[in-house]
Amino acid sequence: MKGKLVNNIRNQSKLFVIAGPCSAESREQMDQIARSLSRSSTVNLFRAGIWKPRTHPDSFEGLGEKALPWLVEAGKEHGLPTCTEVANKSHVQAALKAGVDALWIGARTTVNPFAVQEIADALKGTNTSILIKNPINPDLELWLGAFERFNNAGLHDLTAVHRGFSMYNHAKYRNVPSWEIPIAFSEKRPDVPMICDPSHITGNRDLLLEVSQYAMDLNFDGLMIETHPNPELAWSDAKQQLDANGLFDLIEKLVLRQPNFSQDVATMIDEIRDKVSILDDQLFAILSDRMQLSEEVGILKRENNITVLQQEHWNKLISKRLTQSDDYHLTNQFVRTLMDAIHQESIRHQTRVMNPKTINIHDS
Ligand code: PEP
Ligand code: MN
Repeated sequence: MKGKLVNNIRNQSKLFVIAGPCSAESREQMDQIARSLSRSSTVNLFRAGIWKPRTHPDSFEGLGEKALPWLVEAGKEHGLPTCTEVANKSHVQAALKAGVDALWIGARTTVNPFAVQEIADALKGTNTSILIKNPINPDLELWLGAFERFNNAGLHDLTAVHRGFSMYNHAKYRNVPSWEIPIAFSEKRPDVPMICDPSHITGNRDLLLEVSQYAMDLNFDGLMIETHPNPELAWSDAKQQLDANGLFDLIEKLVLRQPNFSQDVATMIDEIRDKVSILDDQLFAILSDRMQLSEEVGILKRENNITVLQQEHWNKLISKRLTQSDDYHLTNQFVRTLMDAIHQESIRHQTRVMNPKTINIHDS
């Protein structure tokens, strides 16, 4: 690969795109998709899963080592650097020996510090480019910790991939994006490029465009999108893959925005931001007053030995606010989250005044 991955991503004037099938299925499939992808200069890095961590043991778990040369040869033949997922030391050794250019750590591996450490140790002394997907659970520290393990092993060409988080309920998306987590990640590690993987977030090719655009609006550095010569027939993740033309169409439809703006625009934005800031000040002053009132209620509950939680009263409060969400042009989800947060904080204040000797507000 020309230059290191982080530099390639950062110095790219257009969007950085990683594409290729969920899994390598045959030499022909790999050659076919690499050929189609190389017809335009859209794709920067060619991906394929060789070892697939699957939820159920009867799902296709990848063809293993014998598929590695198909990835490397298809990449070489069609001028695309390659990457694959590694989950342990023997995967690392086999992938490096075969000549794969970059490695990615899957979500089910990032979650396991033992596995991450084993991979970091196996890569010590190389300057391999590594992409680290978020852990399947929404744990920012665990994701950051994986980066620290590679940094400590002397590996610094590291890129983050946001692929969403596994939840019991996933109504619309296969993995909920929880965008606040990659945003908080970038706050702590501005040196690390952030790629979005809308394929594994959505699990559905029809939703790829909306999630990709969202990532562009949040100034993500690139996209990883699964592509297959014949998506419907893919052996894994068939519902979320696109063919090469589908990928090119999607990239063309994206509106790319720039993080910087002119002085004129800056002045106009700053004027509005000043007003927002005044409103935020008022919001916090109101919240503070509100908690004072909660404490007054807490004193009465203590004196009369009443439980903090009054379920019926809370049910009434929350349902009233939820029915009003449209009037305020707020989403139901936001109203729910905000009211839950206010309620939890109010309970903390009340329990503190009710149990002055035993409860410290910062512990709860
Ligand atoms: C993949 O990229 O094919 C994959 C298995 O991803 P994740 O680790 O995000 O589930
Ligand atoms: Mn996949």
